[in-house]
Amino acid sequence: MKLKIAIQKSGRLHEDSLRLLKECGIDISNGGNKLKSTAANFPLEVYFLRDDDIPQYVEDAVADAGIVGENVVYEKKKEVEIMAQLGFGKCRLSIAVDKNETFSKQGLNGKKIATSYPVILQDYLDKNKISAEIHEISGSVEIAPGIGLADAICDLVSSGSTLFTNGLKEAETILESQSVLIRNKTLDQEKVRLLEKLLFRIRAVRKAKNNKYILLNAPNNKLNEIIGLLPGMKSPTVLPLAESGWSSVHSVIDENDFWDIIEQLKDAGAQGILVVPIEKMII
Ligand code: ATP
Ligand code: MG
Repeated sequence: MKLKIAIQKSGRLHEDSLRLLKECGIDISNGGNKLKSTAANFPLEVYFLRDDDIPQYVEDAVADAGIVGENVVYEKKKEVEIMAQLGFGKCRLSIAVDKNETFSKQGLNGKKIATSYPVILQDYLDKNKISAEIHEISGSVEIAPGIGLADAICDLVSSGSTLFTNGLKEAETILESQSVLIRNKTLDQEKVRLLEKLLFRIRAVRKAKNNKYILLNAPNNKLNEIIGLLPGMKSPTVLPLAESGWSSVHSVIDENDFWDIIEQLKDAGAQGILVVPIEKMII
């Protein structure tokens, strides 16, 4: 038995989805234009699909699981379960208006908004008691105001450069999105077991990305202070150096605390600080 997982055939999520699987020790070749491919070393079959279709395929159990943007999951409103956020494909679904316009939510009343996300946009308008007309288009939404099709748009943004080139500005974020792993809601025992196995690996890879292994030398009389700055997985490892009066301290630190901690460690007398990436982390 194989777990069937759907990923984007080509586009922004394709490479990162394959890379994640690879980091989980699962090797897949997309062999050009294939619809599906089988992993060599994990009971997994990968389907390559348009991202818009993935929630439906997962609901229908054509695929057991899928990797897709939260924006698509919320827009399609299919019966699927979100298992984990995957940390790539980060973007925002935002309302954008002419760059010279002063924006207010209530100012959207009576306006025409072009979007490929009518469901999420309508939810937002309802919640904010705004009555606006939604004009659904499937692509190149950013040109709609320029050609007189709409007064505002609601579209995915990451850097904002597409908006800028089209004389628009981001006015309001209505959804923060990233890629997620979704699953069918009624998988049998064996499939659930395989999915758990995959999820375990994904968590180990994601955890490792958020952490760094740190090694440093410390004078023994400063050890307590330095150890206090380093939580470690259980507690830091301390090994004596060949030179007496000095120790080597090893630990794991959170990527986000990294620069803060490094400065404090230096101030506390740490020397020869090395920071190295971690490949997998099982805790
Ligand atoms: P498909 O052919 O599979 O339908 P697509 O053209 O709909 O592809 P892409 O542009 O490849 O989709 O985007 C896929 C996903 O990448 C989006 O749904 C979103 O979750 C994410 N994404 C991240 N940054 C951006 C961005 N700046 N613009 C659009 N999508 C983004
Ligand atoms: Mg699409």
